[in-house]
Amino acid sequence: MLEVKNIHKKFGTNEVLKGVDFKVEKGSVIAVLGNSGSGKTTLLRCISFLEQADKGEITFDDFHKDITAVTRKEIRQLRMKMGFVFQGYNLFRNKTALDNVLEGLTIARKNSPEEAKKKAMEMLEKVGMADRANFYPDQLSGGQQQRVAIARAIAYNPEVVLFDEPTSALDPRLTGEVLDVMRKLADEGTTMVVVTHEMDFARKVANWVVYMEDGVIVEEGPSKEFFSQPKSEKTMAFLHMTN
Ligand code: ATP
Repeated sequence: MLEVKNIHKKFGTNEVLKGVDFKVEKGSVIAVLGNSGSGKTTLLRCISFLEQADKGEITFDDFHKDITAVTRKEIRQLRMKMGFVFQGYNLFRNKTALDNVLEGLTIARKNSPEEAKKKAMEMLEKVGMADRANFYPDQLSGGQQQRVAIARAIAYNPEVVLFDEPTSALDPRLTGEVLDVMRKLADEGTTMVVVTHEMDFARKVANWVVYMEDGVIVEEGPSKEFFSQPKSEKTMAFLHMTN
């Protein structure tokens, strides 16, 4: 469904991605693991064109192109197929939870106002936030804000939802409630790529794990095998360290 090949990215002289191949199959839940600075966020940002890669190819369904040659119009079209949930919550502070979810719906698709509102409420329901629809972000806990951000990201039925450390700013209890919502989305068959330090999520919810180190993918494989029989010594060291 979505694939990038041989992605390279430098910041100045710092080569952060050194030829990464990354593939997302429909219905998969991929956890991207790796130490701080290994390039996980940069990979997600290149895939979603928040960052311009220096080199590589992108394929999304029947679209295939050199990633450096994708036009602004094509970027807009590709991004309509992706939902984003990033670190922090990135909600509009001056809009209610409902209006935050509506924002994505009305910009991205041509829904009537009634249809959009119905859909937005369904999404808030799904993340357990329907009773807070008229609250502003400042009136919500971090976990609740992140659940609204998830509702916004899934509202226009993207083909894949990209999460960048969605729980990194949350305490363990709030982390749990956000992970529960993500587990539910996974159970419903949502295609997800999740950059995370939550090993439990990677172990129990992801069906594919990618381990990055120093700008390359060191190892990837089905979650079960990755944790029970890691092949690379680097992976073993990482798993040992995080256990
Ligand atoms: P973390 O787990 O801490 O989020 P990460 O694996 O996601 O780390 P990245 O955020 O992709 O790593 O960063 C990889 C490297 O790229 C780091 O050395 C970082 O300092 C550098 N980097 C990232 N973004 C920029 C930028 N906009 N300008 C310059 N350097 C950057």
